[in-house]
Amino acid sequence: MHSTAEHGTPVWCRSAHTHLIDPMINDALRIVTVCLRPTPVDNFPTLTDIQPAELRRSGDTLSLGHRAMEPGHLLHSELTHTSSADVWHLKSRHPFVPAAQQLISFSDNNICAAQQADHQWNAEWVDNPTRLRILIPDTGTQPSGITFPRRAWIQLNCLRTSVGRFCSCLYKWGMASSAACECGAEEQTTNQFVFQCPIHRPLHGLHARTVLDDETTEWLLNTCPEI
Ligand SMILES: [Zn+2]
Repeated sequence: MHSTAEHGTPVWCRSAHTHLIDPMINDALRIVTVCLRPTPVDNFPTLTDIQPAELRRSGDTLSLGHRAMEPGHLLHSELTHTSSADVWHLKSRHPFVPAAQQLISFSDNNICAAQQADHQWNAEWVDNPTRLRILIPDTGTQPSGITFPRRAWIQLNCLRTSVGRFCSCLYKWGMASSAACECGAEEQTTNQFVFQCPIHRPLHGLHARTVLDDETTEWLLNTCPEI
């Protein structure tokens, strides 16, 4: 759906209405990850290794700006001979030229626009408060397990985001009468499920969400209950 959602982005991505597109992109990413609706939306790009929509749009603007710097490009004279002050007479328009000029002035000419967006993504991810950041500290690389069969991929994403059909979550959402685990623990949380639960925990605890060895893969595919 990106081909539709990002058609002509350098023209409109600074519009005040851009945010109307994002829920649809987030819904598509949620389908890819099969995460539940309460999952923080900023987890989806990291789980799918797809840059956040805003960075992709900014990258498209920079990429077009770089191409327009080449003599002969249709926008070359517009970009190189127009002062930013000349095009700001309608501030609400947020036109392409000053945006591209600004992005180019801050960019590193030795790397492409997509790589620049990756760097910015990583810089922003460092401050992300969700639990997923502890398990996947760096963005811009495919997380382990992305090629797993769908069932294991679903389980892994629920374990990594800590949002799934754990008893504590179901209880919080009013879908269960108790947060207790079948093993007798008062609250079945992700950590209880992975580290302590004598019924459900995988052999390697935290490894189940980070290092995916053969035993963990087997557990995700065949032993882990639907969460
Ligand atoms: Zn338990």
